[in-house]
Amino acid sequence: MPGNIIQRSYQQLLDILFPPQCAQCKVSGAILCPRCIASISWFTPPLCHICGLPGAGTTLCARCQHQPLQLSGVRAPGSYQEPLRSCIRALKYQGNRRLSEPLGQLLAQAYHKYAMRADLVIPVPLHQEKLQQRGYNQSQLLAESCARQLQLPLSTTLIHRIHSAPAQVTLTAQQRRKNLQGAFRCTQNHTTQSLLNRRILIIDDVCTTGATLEACAAPLFAAGARAVWGLVLARPLSGVPTSTGKR
Ligand SMILES: [Zn+2]
Ligand SMILES: [Zn+2]
Repeated sequence: MPGNIIQRSYQQLLDILFPPQCAQCKVSGAILCPRCIASISWFTPPLCHICGLPGAGTTLCARCQHQPLQLSGVRAPGSYQEPLRSCIRALKYQGNRRLSEPLGQLLAQAYHKYAMRADLVIPVPLHQEKLQQRGYNQSQLLAESCARQLQLPLSTTLIHRIHSAPAQVTLTAQQRRKNLQGAFRCTQNHTTQSLLNRRILIIDDVCTTGATLEACAAPLFAAGARAVWGLVLARPLSGVPTSTGKR
């Protein structure tokens, strides 16, 4: 889109005049410096084939053996710790939208590393009310950046959120799943078999129990999608973080 190109050229000019600062270590010259990017500790295999978390003895972790996620799988570079933790908070709550560029690159890197395959990239939609409060959807910014890196088509209107779930922080995985049932719907022209055989990649910042991604995947599978994968920046491994439970 020409508008985007103009915007990016303008940004490049601003970067020359006022070099950006690393969101993590404050060094001058990059939105997220190479040193901080290199300090991200990636999950080490073997990873569960479904949830993508480490510690799977064979192909599936204990949880997925009993109650697998209701989608093809989820992948993330690493757990919810520094520097990802601060970066996600800065992108989500402190208005540092430009972090979506290096973080989208990180997602694209994970896509290749985990040999994921998709025909279409979509963000987890934000409820209209939340969108108005925050002014932007951080997942959409990440999806835009990631899809551009991967040269995959992006859709921001395939599904929409029809009700906003109450705060999820204190809920168990099962309660979260119940809370989010029917929270997302395909837009009208995608309700029938229009997604037949498509492989869809849903982008979000964080995945805690997987309930949000499962709720997004349900209408996509119903519309004929062959595979629905989730790709997020980080997975909290112990407990539920108080700041990312809200959406
Ligand atoms: Zn840095
Ligand atoms: Zn698993």
